Amino acid sequence: MNDLFGEVFKPYMPAIQLGQRLFLLFFIVFWVALVFWTWRDAQRRGAMPWFWATVALLFNVAGWAIYMVVRPPESREDARERELEIRAREAELTRANPVCPACFKPVDPDFLICPSCMKKLKKECTSCGKPLKLDWAVCPYCKTKQ
Ligand SMILES: [Zn+2]
Ligand SMILES: [Zn+2]
Repeated sequence: MNDLFGEVFKPYMPAIQLGQRLFLLFFIVFWVALVFWTWRDAQRRGAMPWFWATVALLFNVAGWAIYMVVRPPESREDARERELEIRAREAELTRANPVCPACFKPVDPDFLICPSCMKKLKKECTSCGKPLKLDWAVCPYCKTKQ
């Protein structure tokens, strides 16, 4: 049976060996790429890059899978950047459409009180009657002290 097997496959042996080598080469390249990816990802997230690269080197896909489970959710820089972005967008929105700080309904910039919840938003200048912020000590329109 073995002889028959050998006889049948003999002409194809070089191709089979070449296939095996290519597979081995692919596997090594994949392994190196996996270790490198793990190292870079851990570095980006500030999570012991050399330790995780070694784990991926020793355990291959199993080590990488463990890293994927325990890695920090996101790099600290990414998180900070996103937070700043959100804050900037919020500031932009409030500048475009001011809202009441108590009930968050939209108000006009010169409203003295919120029409929805009656919260005092601005005070009237004692001299010119322009709407002033509550903590302003002087009217910027007519220079009257409040
Ligand atoms: Zn309100
Ligand atoms: Zn005034």
